[in-house]
Amino acid sequence: MALLEVNHLGVRFARRDGPPVTVVHDVSFALEAGGTLGIVGESGSGKSQTVMAMLGLLASNGRTFGQARLRGEDLLAMKPAALNRIRGDRIAMIFQDPMTSLNPFLTIERQMTEALQQHRRLTRREARTRAIEALERVRIPDAARRIGMYPHEFSGGMRQRVLIATALMMEPDVLIADEPTTALDVTVQAQIMALLREMNRERGTAILLITHDMGVVAELCDDVMVMYAGRAVEKARADALFARPQHPYTVGLLGALPRLDAPIGAPLRTIPGNPPLPGGAGMGCAFAPRCVHAFERCQREVPPLHADGARARACHLDAEILLQSTPGVGL
Ligand code: SF4
Repeated sequence: MALLEVNHLGVRFARRDGPPVTVVHDVSFALEAGGTLGIVGESGSGKSQTVMAMLGLLASNGRTFGQARLRGEDLLAMKPAALNRIRGDRIAMIFQDPMTSLNPFLTIERQMTEALQQHRRLTRREARTRAIEALERVRIPDAARRIGMYPHEFSGGMRQRVLIATALMMEPDVLIADEPTTALDVTVQAQIMALLREMNRERGTAILLITHDMGVVAELCDDVMVMYAGRAVEKARADALFARPQHPYTVGLLGALPRLDAPIGAPLRTIPGNPPLPGGAGMGCAFAPRCVHAFERCQREVPPLHADGARARACHLDAEILLQSTPGVGL
């Protein structure tokens, strides 16, 4: 049994001024213990809503369908208090903006030790020692002094490290990282990715990484699920997906990555157009208005996600034809 198994997850929001809008359609994936899964897509693809739904953190007008089992227990069927106990204990989360998770009015010490005291029943002194050790592990200099500071006294990268330290201390089964490096400069990004890798390889923490950046996925993930307009459009082992993408959208995402072998001054390739607004896709394949391969059938039928061995893709176009027409894509 996988550590985390999500089956047929759907998310729908009620609206005052119109019919409900479905932002996630029938998404399934599994994360093995100690594994790393990247969920990739542009903004509005449904990747963050998938995770928020799983954790019971949707806005009040949202409804979730399907199952999300952590070690066999369905998170979606749990009472809010039970789910609250799991969040921050067996599942830790870090977000693009660390201030989403840090209280600006409390010292780092108070925030780190409260989590430990609440979930691990340690004394305040034991919790403080454990928190300082965790800050040292994520290389916060002078941790014993800095633990008494407030979040605004830390840089963005340091705040993200504080959250990683908090997660390290709790030793969760799963760390969910939603765009953890997007707001950081390149050097700090590399440091945060190195810490996540360390947490995965040395402590066996499973990581679910949500990102729009294929380069970040390449650095960390064993498995990838690509989402577009609320649906999974391609799933594969990361090395197979980077070597031979089998969906035109994945080809576009990989083509947009900067390449070391590109001629100097060559413009970055982008995917033309924009994704549909949530719930705004018409009939047929939601990617059709941006897809250079679209043909008549794409306009009228949503392609189902079709599995073939360890891979799955949702596209009417034959994978071989796609590969022949897009040479040189991939890392
Ligand atoms: Fe493009 Fe058609 Fe495949 Fe959609 S189904 S990605 S429009 S070829």
